[in-house]
Amino acid sequence: MSTPPAFPALLAPIRLGAHAVRNRTLMGSMHTGIERLDRSAERLAAFYAERARGGAGLIVTGGFAMNAEAKLDDHGPTLITEDEADALRPIPQAVHAAGGKIILQVLHTGRYGKTSGLVGASSIPSPINRRVPRPLETAEVWRTIDDYVRCAELAMRAGFDGVEIMGSEGYFLNQFTTRRCNDRSDEFGGSVENRHRIVVEIVRRTRERLGPEALIMYRISALDLVEGGAPADEVIALARAVEAAGADVINTGFGWHEARIPTIAYLVPRAAFRFAAARIKRALKIPLIVSNRINTPEVADEIIASGDADMVSMARPFLADAAFVNKAAAGRPDAINTCIACNQACLDFIFTHQPTSCLVNPRAGRELEFDEMPAPRARRRVAVVGAGAAGLACAITAAQRGHEVALYEAGAEVGGQLNLARQVPGKEEFHEMLRYFRTGLADARVALHLNRRPAAADLAKGSFDHVVVATGVRARVPAIAGIDHPKVVSYADLLAGRRQAGRRVAVIGAGGIGFDVAEYLLHEAEEAPAPAESLTNTSVDPFLAEWGVSTARAAPGGLGEARPPRPLRSVTLLQRKPEKPGRTLGLSTGWALRARLEQRGLQTLSGCSYERVDDAGLHLRVGGEARVLDVDTVVICAGQESDNALADELRGLGVAPALIGGAERAGELDALRAIDQGTRLAMTF
Ligand code: NAP
Ligand code: SF4
Repeated sequence: MSTPPAFPALLAPIRLGAHAVRNRTLMGSMHTGIERLDRSAERLAAFYAERARGGAGLIVTGGFAMNAEAKLDDHGPTLITEDEADALRPIPQAVHAAGGKIILQVLHTGRYGKTSGLVGASSIPSPINRRVPRPLETAEVWRTIDDYVRCAELAMRAGFDGVEIMGSEGYFLNQFTTRRCNDRSDEFGGSVENRHRIVVEIVRRTRERLGPEALIMYRISALDLVEGGAPADEVIALARAVEAAGADVINTGFGWHEARIPTIAYLVPRAAFRFAAARIKRALKIPLIVSNRINTPEVADEIIASGDADMVSMARPFLADAAFVNKAAAGRPDAINTCIACNQACLDFIFTHQPTSCLVNPRAGRELEFDEMPAPRARRRVAVVGAGAAGLACAITAAQRGHEVALYEAGAEVGGQLNLARQVPGKEEFHEMLRYFRTGLADARVALHLNRRPAAADLAKGSFDHVVVATGVRARVPAIAGIDHPKVVSYADLLAGRRQAGRRVAVIGAGGIGFDVAEYLLHEAEEAPAPAESLTNTSVDPFLAEWGVSTARAAPGGLGEARPPRPLRSVTLLQRKPEKPGRTLGLSTGWALRARLEQRGLQTLSGCSYERVDDAGLHLRVGGEARVLDVDTVVICAGQESDNALADELRGLGVAPALIGGAERAGELDALRAIDQGTRLAMTF
């Protein structure tokens, strides 16, 4: 009996205008920052071609500005001249040679731009940009429309299959389509038809200029998630007008950049916004693409099969695994390196002016750099001690390079600190990371020894060519009187379920783990929030209710009343530093975590000095003033220290081990550094 095809809905071909696309996956547009590097076209060609080889149906590039005012910042990528178009040619050439299709995104950042010559529909500034935009004169709007069309024409000259016209996330076109930032009185302001005119003219004129062969995609803001945003009926009217103007396909975006509701962070349940895409799809004849927090072939296939969308856009999942589609098609979804929605090496790198990469896949965006690393010499014998993130990445990469690898783990399962992270509500994607590592160990035939703590002498005798110490960290035990009182619990015991917390809790230490522990403690609620209109999706409904996302068609911007749950516990998070806690959290995720915890009643205290724990609770001074927190439990999250005694013992026996991860440096250890370090070390064997 033959096996049924894997993910038949997702992997079915689809026609987009004149183009046959091999499956229903879109690698969505991302700012990559690679455009700013030397050899940028070559790097981008390698980056996108790897995704095309991995089976991506259609790829959209990062955004290119069509004129100087449209740029993200003074160095943002532009496509204004024929020379710029010719320089981009290697990108579509490489993607086509790999069997894929690629379109170029045309992006005007409008009032989000970080340039001096900021322009917009009107002079209303964005809350996330202090610069005030200059409203374009009517004639300048018409000229900008021409610039869009010219940019699309240049994209075709460069060899792209078409363009995506970016009309979501609160950029320039959104600034015309909604009343929130459009107070114009000319033909581009006022009525719905006038506010939509710029979009319709761009699409219509682009089709006229490029003819039927070019693939034209419009990215619509399906939910603005800001006050004064468009209600669903206006969004649907725009989608229909764009269809009539000649677009082949409509892609969706959710939430403007200034929205105070998370839309892609790990806190967002998978496919949380599909309901808004589905109601646009029902109004259209051309295909519709859904996006945001879709990261597995199972979820993607189910969406297509349900009829809620015709294609699925995944941007970060293709950073995490370039071969996402090929693995799904081969019936190996277990081998996919899943995006965990952490944003740590993609969005947060872009915010800190570094080219994009990926926490779970350090090769992403650095394809040339990794390809230029030395090929393995002879088959080596490698011992890796410690199966946390660093040890796992090192062992699997070394074995994939053909070496014979033994991996020793003192515990009963692999994962180290990842096993604690995955207990935190909202961080369930860490389960996927562990599944990927377990599959990788088996596929690469790493010899795994659980419950084994090898002695230095045995490793020295083992005639290994390389010994890697990845023994991780120990939780720091602060010198506070009463630290062994029964009220005191370590974060590891709490998250591992070995100890429970009472109803009133103090958390010592407000780093990433302190916040995670606060999230864990404040998750259990007295009563679940009642959704206004149930989508009958158990994880999505509470999310929408907590953040005030309305599924009602009439709700402007899709906003409703936020109904946070009432937690069972009261939690106070403490730190010694005088500053506001949370500075070390992720740039693009920390604000959402802080907002969620504040909504759930988290108290914070800075400038603390801890005196003792006793039956009365935690005695401390805050800004010099003595206080007692009458709590049932004190959870210690006071950072880590390296656990690297094995390395010293090995050195004493004349073996020079390599140290990675927390064993090498405990401070600011995270999975990003651990995986990167483990992978890069293995590339040198
Ligand atoms: P951390 O970020 O270094 O925070 C340790 C906390 O403990 C700080 O608030 C520090 O603040 C306090 N502390 C340090 N020594 C102390 C002492 N002797 N007595 C009392 N308090 C002390 O470490 P972590 O929270 O364990 O996190 C480890 C790493 O995991 C971080 O680098 C982070 O990157 C990563 N992580 C990140 C996230 C996230 O971003 N969501 C989540 C989990 C883990 P004071 O010195 O001011 O008291
Ligand atoms: Fe996904 Fe994190 Fe990788 Fe970004 S860094 S692609 S969010 S796993």
